[in-house]
Amino acid sequence: MLAMSLFHHEALLRAVGPLLLVACSSASGQGAAPAAAGSSPAASGRVDELLAQMTLDEKAGQLTQWGAQVTPTGPLVQQGGEDDIRQGRVGSILGAFGVEGTRRLQKLAAEESRLKVPLLFAYDVIHGFRTVFPVPLGEAAAFDPALAERCARAAAVEAAAHGLHWTYAPMVDIGRDPRWGRVVEGAGEDPYLGAALAAARVRGFRGQPGTATSLLATAKHFVAYGGAEGGRDYDTVDVSDRALREVFLPPFRAAVEAGVDSIMPAFNEIAGTPMHAHSGILRDTLREAWGFDGLLVSDYTGIMELKAHGIAATDADAAARALNATVDIDMISGLYIEQLPALVASGKLAVAQLDAAVRRVLVAKQQLGLFDDPYRGTSVEHEKANELAPEVRALAREAGRESIVLLKNDRHLLPLSKSMATLAVIGALADDEAAALGTWYGAGRADDAVTVLDGVRLALPNTKVVYAPGASPETVAAGGFDEAERAAKAADAVLLVIGEGGDMTGEARSRSSVALPGAQLSLFERLHELGKPLVVVLVNGRALAIPEIAERAGAILEVWHLGHEMGNSVADVVFGDVNPSGKLPVTFPRTTGQVPLYYNHKQTGRPPREKERYTSKYVDVPWTPQYPFGFGLSYTTFGYEKPQLSAASLAPSEALTVSVRVKNTGERAGTEVVQLYLRDDAATFTRPVRTLRGFRRVTLAPGRSEDVKFTLDADDFALLDESFARVVEPGTFTVFVGGSSDTTNEASFEVTTGATLQGPGSAIPREVR
Ligand code: BGC
Repeated sequence: MLAMSLFHHEALLRAVGPLLLVACSSASGQGAAPAAAGSSPAASGRVDELLAQMTLDEKAGQLTQWGAQVTPTGPLVQQGGEDDIRQGRVGSILGAFGVEGTRRLQKLAAEESRLKVPLLFAYDVIHGFRTVFPVPLGEAAAFDPALAERCARAAAVEAAAHGLHWTYAPMVDIGRDPRWGRVVEGAGEDPYLGAALAAARVRGFRGQPGTATSLLATAKHFVAYGGAEGGRDYDTVDVSDRALREVFLPPFRAAVEAGVDSIMPAFNEIAGTPMHAHSGILRDTLREAWGFDGLLVSDYTGIMELKAHGIAATDADAAARALNATVDIDMISGLYIEQLPALVASGKLAVAQLDAAVRRVLVAKQQLGLFDDPYRGTSVEHEKANELAPEVRALAREAGRESIVLLKNDRHLLPLSKSMATLAVIGALADDEAAALGTWYGAGRADDAVTVLDGVRLALPNTKVVYAPGASPETVAAGGFDEAERAAKAADAVLLVIGEGGDMTGEARSRSSVALPGAQLSLFERLHELGKPLVVVLVNGRALAIPEIAERAGAILEVWHLGHEMGNSVADVVFGDVNPSGKLPVTFPRTTGQVPLYYNHKQTGRPPREKERYTSKYVDVPWTPQYPFGFGLSYTTFGYEKPQLSAASLAPSEALTVSVRVKNTGERAGTEVVQLYLRDDAATFTRPVRTLRGFRRVTLAPGRSEDVKFTLDADDFALLDESFARVVEPGTFTVFVGGSSDTTNEASFEVTTGATLQGPGSAIPREVR
C-alpha cells in the first residue's frame, strides 16, 4: 500500500485553520481569467472518446481521490502528491480550497497531464463555507425547508468562488440516539422532516446545474449510520429491513428524487456487511431499484477499512468488493489506483465494471462544465467578493433566530428588557467563538464569529453587561463560581450560557452520557440559589438531559451552535426583537438511560400505564421525555380548534383535507409551526404511535386566526406489506394536529377499502414538492 497519511483534514483545519486560510486567500494573485472555452482538448461531450484513450492506470486514477492540506503556500496534496496529478493517477481532491491553490492544482491535471482531464475539488460544506450558518440540527428546528435551501445555496456560492465543485452534504442520517455525536450534522430523528430538508438542501447546493455556482451534492452516510450500537461512532448496526425502509432510507430517496449527484456509503456494517461492500443496498436498491446513476464516493478510507471489518483479507479483495458494490471513487485509501489495474488485467474484475465507474466520474465533470472551462471562471476578485457578504451574514442571522427553541418561560421572564441597568452574562460558552461555529465549519474563521457575549453587548449599549466565565464544559474558571456569584448578585438578571463546546459533537464525538458536561450544573445550582431572574441559554449539538434545569430555571432557550451570527441571533430573541418559533427536531430525554427515545416509537403489547406494574416503563424515571419532538414555546400563545376533516370515510383513491383553525391567543405577533401527525389504528404490521405527515409555519398577529389546511392521501395511508410493496389497508386512522408531537388534538376517519399502490411513490414531502 502507498505510504498514506491517515491524518484527518478536519482535525488539521481545527488546529490551524484561520491562519492558513488567511494566508491562502490573501496571497496576491495570478491572472484569474477563465481559460478560453475549448482550450482543453477534453472538450464537452468527449466522455466516450476519453474513455477509449485511457490506460488502466488512468482509469483507476479517475476513481482515486487524494487529500489536500491547506498550507500558507497553498494546498499540499497528500498521498501521491502533485506528480500523481500530472500522471493522471488522481481524479479528485478533498480538502483544497482557495482560488489560487485550486487553479494551480487544476492546471497540473487540465493542462499538464496526458489526457488533460480536469480534477474535481470536493469539500465538506456542511453548514456554510466562509460564512457559517447554524449547525444542521439547529437549522432543522426552524422546520423551514425554504430557509434550508437558501442557506445551502449561499454556502454553495461561497464555496464555488473558492474553486470547489462538490460538497459532502447534506448529511441525511436519522439520529435517534443523542449519544452519537453526529446527530448534530443531520435533521434529527424524523424521516419526514429529514426527507423535506434533504430535498431542500440538495436543491440549494445544486442551484442551476451546469452554472458556475452549482455544487455537486452528496447525500450521506448511506445508510443507518446513526443506528450504531450504544451510540458509539462507527459501531455495528443491525436494523431490520422494515426499519431501513421506513426510517433510514426515506431521506436518501428524497435526495435522489431531488437530483442528488452523489451518495457516500457509511462506515458501518448492516447485519454483517459493511456498507462499502454492500451490493444488496448499493447496487440492487440504490442503483437498480431507485435508478441512481450518479457517483458513489467512499467515505474517508472506507474501502481500506473493509480489511479492518474482516471481510477482505487483502487490499485487492477490499478494492474488488467495493467496485463490485459499484463504489466509484476511493477517498484516501489508495487501493483503487494500486489494485484495480491488476485486477482488471488479470480478469478478476471486468473492464466494463471499471469503465462504468470512470464514465460516471467523467459525466459529472462534463456536467459541471469542466471540459469547457476547468477553472469555472474563478478569480481572486470574485472569491473575495463572495466572502462573508453582508446579505449572507444577514441570512445567517435570520437562520440563527429561526433555529432557536424556547423550552421554558415561567411568568414571561423572557424577553428581557433592554433597559435593564445591569445584566450578568455567565458561562465560558458565552465568550467562545468555537462554540458559535460548532463542528464542520467549512472555511469559516473563529474571529469572524459574534459570540453570545458580543451579541448581548451590541444589543444593550446602555446596560452594564458583566461577564464571568464561571465554568466551561471542561473546567471551572479560576475563582469561577465565586466570581459568577458576585456578578449575578450585582445584576438585575442572569443569562447563563451552558452546554457543549463546538467540538463536543460531530464525528468521533460520542458521549456515554448526555447530561450537562463538567461543573456547569453545579454552577447553575449556585446561581439559582440567589433567586435572581435566571435565563439558561443552552448551546449544544445534540439532545441533552437537563432535568434539574428544566425544573428550576426561569426560562430556557435552546440555541444550538448558530454559526457566525450566533450572538446577534440570540440577542434578537432574548430581548424580544424576534419572537422564537423553533421546534425540537429531536426528543430531549430526562436521562441518558432512556435513549434511544423518539416520538414515533411502536406501541408495544404493554404500552406504559402509570399505575400498572407490568407495562413498558422504568421504575426510576418516567417513560416520557423531558421535551418531546416538535415542542417549542413562543412569547405568545396559540390555540387550536379541533381538526375538521373533509370526509369521515373515504376510498384510498380519494384525498382527505384536514383543516384546523389556529389562533394567536396572546399579545404579540408570532409564528407557529403547525404539525400534523397520523396513526394507522390497526394494520397487518405494527405501526408507530404517530408519524409526522405535514407541517406549516404560520405567522399570526395577536387575536388573529387562520385555517391551516393539510392534504392526506394514499401515500400517507400506506404501509409496506410483507414483500415491502405499498398497500393501503381498510380501517380507521387518527389524525393529530398541534404545536408538538404530544398533542391530543385529534380526529378520526376511515379508509373503506384496501389498495395496492403502484411504485414507490414520492419520498419528497409535500412541503417541498
Ligand atoms: C466523514 C465524512 C466526510 C469525510 C471527508 C469522513 O470522516 O465521515 O462525513 O465527508 O470524512 O471529510
